[in-house]
Amino acid sequence: MLPRLSRPEILALQESRLRELVAHAYENVPFYRQLFDSAGVHPHDIRGIKDLCRLPIISKNDLRAVSPESIVARGLAPNSLHLHSTSGSSGEPFQIRRSGTDLERFLHFLWRHLEYYGAKPDDSVGIVVRLPDALTETKLTERPRLRSRVRQLWRAAIVLRHSPQAEGIKANWINCLLEPEAIYRQLLHSTARVLVGYPSVLARVALQMNGQAQLRPRLIATMGENLTPGLRLQLAEAFDAPVFDIYASNELGYMAWECRESGQFHVCDDGVILEVLRDNQPVAEGEWGEVVGTNLNVLAQPFIRYRMGDIVTKGRAVCACGQPFSTILEVQGRKLDYFRLPDGRDLHPYCIEIALREFLSDVGRFQLIQERENLIIARVTARAPFSPQQITRMQEAVTSLIGNEVEFRVDSVEAIAPEPNGKFRVYRSLLN
Ligand SMILES: [Zn+2]
Repeated sequence: MLPRLSRPEILALQESRLRELVAHAYENVPFYRQLFDSAGVHPHDIRGIKDLCRLPIISKNDLRAVSPESIVARGLAPNSLHLHSTSGSSGEPFQIRRSGTDLERFLHFLWRHLEYYGAKPDDSVGIVVRLPDALTETKLTERPRLRSRVRQLWRAAIVLRHSPQAEGIKANWINCLLEPEAIYRQLLHSTARVLVGYPSVLARVALQMNGQAQLRPRLIATMGENLTPGLRLQLAEAFDAPVFDIYASNELGYMAWECRESGQFHVCDDGVILEVLRDNQPVAEGEWGEVVGTNLNVLAQPFIRYRMGDIVTKGRAVCACGQPFSTILEVQGRKLDYFRLPDGRDLHPYCIEIALREFLSDVGRFQLIQERENLIIARVTARAPFSPQQITRMQEAVTSLIGNEVEFRVDSVEAIAPEPNGKFRVYRSLLN
């Protein structure tokens, strides 16, 4: 059982962390000083979460438009930090810099989630992700003022009472861009008991086992992509292990993790402030909106009111299971992924996948593409081709959802390639 903070303690922590973060960003990060100045806001104005709306919302494009020096805290040489490149939907690279302390804190959160799902302190954890471009050896060249600030915040982090085993996590980092067979060998070699990674990559690894499971994970935790119903089923069957989903991003780190009991997601309220907004206003429980997040622990390159571009449905203020975290009901995925239909509706392709659920257990890879406003194609690598009757039933199921104006086609293909960043996009609208 995890030691944990009470709900009021978490809220108090959020408030004090937010104040510290805003002061740190204003003092040390030129981009934020300029941003807050031009919005006429001073850190003194941000007393707590209720004042958050006074700060401008930023996006990837805002950060991409400025130099690395202006978004990294003063006193930290950009080339002394761990560099993560991400490629957005546009394919334009975006770089994120992290200090060793930032990364350590991420690991604490990961371990907390894995422990909650049943990981044991001695478990070897195979983490199959896009690795940082360069894990630099250079010592951080922090100025004394920042160093003391970092230390001060780090002390505060200890108040979080994370799992004491976090230090002992046996993490085996494996590059997700390797061939599935090489990933599988590395996982076997490390006798991984816990698998963490992008669901599409783990599903390809599962195919390497040919039904003979030499790898016997205790549990699987997915992140970085939509865990679609089909992928969840595929992973659970192939590895004969429970599958849990974690909502995380390169920019904001760990944002939410699936509750074992309610099926909702616990928001990492002690690490991020996650706003769910529509037209920049908070939505009510049960409504969907865009994620705007503030990471409370990351100091080298802070993210404050950062628009993720993801759509989620807001859940309860506190989870029904008794954990002291707020919830999101569902992570629908990226806003860009929505399919605009001829009748003016914006349909998330997730709904189409749900309609096809019964057909997908036999599918290798699956991708939904909106080619034109009136044409949606499901590309599948099927282990056995679908019969004409099956295809008719699939079309009926989807047509009842999208209407007769849109043609729905099923294409069997040999292979579907991942994106250059190793992630696999299940949904893609060519209209966006
Ligand atoms: Zn819960």
